[in-house]
Amino acid sequence: MTKRLDALVVGAGVAGLYQLHQLRELGLNVEACDAASDVGGTWYWNRYPGAKFDSEGFIYQYLFDEKLYKDWTWSERFPSQPEIERWLHYVTDRLDLRKDITFDTAVTKATYNESTCRWTVETSKGDVIDTRFFVSCTGMLSAPLEDRFPGQSSFKGPIFHTARYPKEGMDYTGKRVGVIGTGATGIQVIQTIASQVDQLKVFVRTPQYVLPMTNPKLGPKEANAYKARFDAVAGNAPHTFCGFDYDFSHVWADLSPEERTAALEDAYQHGSLKLWLGVFAEMFFDEDVNAEVSSFVRAKMEARLKDRKLIDVLVPQEGDYGFGTHRVPLESNYLEAYLRDNVEAVGVRNNPITEIVPEGVKLADGTVHEVDVIVMAVGFDAGSGALSRIDITGRDGMKLGEEWSKEIRTTLGMQKYGFPNLFMTGAPLAPSAALCNMTTCLQQQTEWITECIAELVKNGHDAIEPTLDGEDTWVRHHDEVANATLLSKTDSWYNGGNIEGKPKRLLSYAGGVGTYRQKCEEVVQEGYSLFRMSKLEESALA
Ligand code: NAP
Repeated sequence: MTKRLDALVVGAGVAGLYQLHQLRELGLNVEACDAASDVGGTWYWNRYPGAKFDSEGFIYQYLFDEKLYKDWTWSERFPSQPEIERWLHYVTDRLDLRKDITFDTAVTKATYNESTCRWTVETSKGDVIDTRFFVSCTGMLSAPLEDRFPGQSSFKGPIFHTARYPKEGMDYTGKRVGVIGTGATGIQVIQTIASQVDQLKVFVRTPQYVLPMTNPKLGPKEANAYKARFDAVAGNAPHTFCGFDYDFSHVWADLSPEERTAALEDAYQHGSLKLWLGVFAEMFFDEDVNAEVSSFVRAKMEARLKDRKLIDVLVPQEGDYGFGTHRVPLESNYLEAYLRDNVEAVGVRNNPITEIVPEGVKLADGTVHEVDVIVMAVGFDAGSGALSRIDITGRDGMKLGEEWSKEIRTTLGMQKYGFPNLFMTGAPLAPSAALCNMTTCLQQQTEWITECIAELVKNGHDAIEPTLDGEDTWVRHHDEVANATLLSKTDSWYNGGNIEGKPKRLLSYAGGVGTYRQKCEEVVQEGYSLFRMSKLEESALA
């Protein structure tokens, strides 16, 4: 039987939970579904050893409800996945959301019907849902690159992508383990399991800049102190460059070389992402400034590693790529893990992995590194991946996956020309794609979507879609901002460079969270410029 809804929210993670709450408050007949068997989204799937926030807990929270914020207490500055999952359960229960979420249910197909301005959505359970609004909260990094190497299925031991880590965990005692990948995920795995395994081989392709995390436990005094700052945080975060509590604090040209070093050292000691996102904005635009900051971070890393061979494999060298031009991971004694006798860094930049064989990982020169378990921390088809994997057909037979396989375009990262009444969060061409504290960005996007739907309903309209001109305007602006930065020059998931054949475009809007928010508000004030709202009869005629 077909279920009829006003809105279907796809995903029950940070965005989906809040979106469901808001649309319900609006009075819509709304439900959510999720492929997972419980809430959490990213924090449900990524349960690998050492998974934790790279944002401080006090900022990675919903800020729309002071009591909800203050009734939850984090136990450490950067909490770990089990505690984060418990927090999302707490939010779910407080807002009584569970009764409207169907779990273990993936959306497989969605088709827009022009004669009704509604979506027909099909799920993995065989359900059919007829809904006016199809709101995707499917996550920015939720399409794991699971089939990365030929021969994976021939491996005789356990092999898994970090985002599909076994729920029951793994006992590494006495095991020889291979970890492929040294992004933010691989780093957390490596530093956590190094002392648990018999032998660890880390397959390192591109060296990675890292910053140390300072992660004290929080007692009642510290928790009360951060809660007392609720108003300041809620007032400030949505207007900063990256949705954190801090913002760029210094102007490079105003400081002497000694003062610059002192500012970098101060941010380094903060033990957070501040050195990246809260000191010098010029680092993102000016190659000379970037080179100096890169050299500061490099020196810190080299001093910890000491060994030249390790430095060559693990530390980006001059001319490699600049610090901060893709995601900077935080770490805790990650580099020191390589100083252990049971850990080996295997450089695969010039001797790539060619296949997985029954015994382990085979490299181009024929060497086989024998291991018992393989952890693939090899990343995601970011931004466009989750929706591209669903068979979505918009107006005039347009397929979203096909469109994005040619060029990745959206309007404000929240709608796409040709796909009326499809709303997206965490999608390309918005800061929520990467350069953002996710909760800050996802709250803003879901609130914008709610307001948009409310406006549509109030005015008796049936559909909203970007105009082609509107989308061109946003894409042009996005590209101008992106191309003025060094971000678009470094290949990583930020620009689609981690996947062969994926169209290149910086996925994240690089103008900053505050600016993006302002632009979204301007669009509303201008009567939803960039978009076209229509009534059923107009839309059917269009
Ligand atoms: P990632 O940053 O894309 O890193 C993937 C790693 O796998 C890279 O080191 C990559 O090397 C390597 N790799 C991929 N294919 C390979 C191949 N064929 N051979 C050898 N190496 C290969 O993915 P991720 O670490 O999962 O992180 C993705 C994002 O998730 C992060 O950037 C971050 O935004 C988010 N994240 C957040 C947190 C947090 O906030 N706490 C934690 C984890 C992840 P190359 O660089 O050479 O391609």
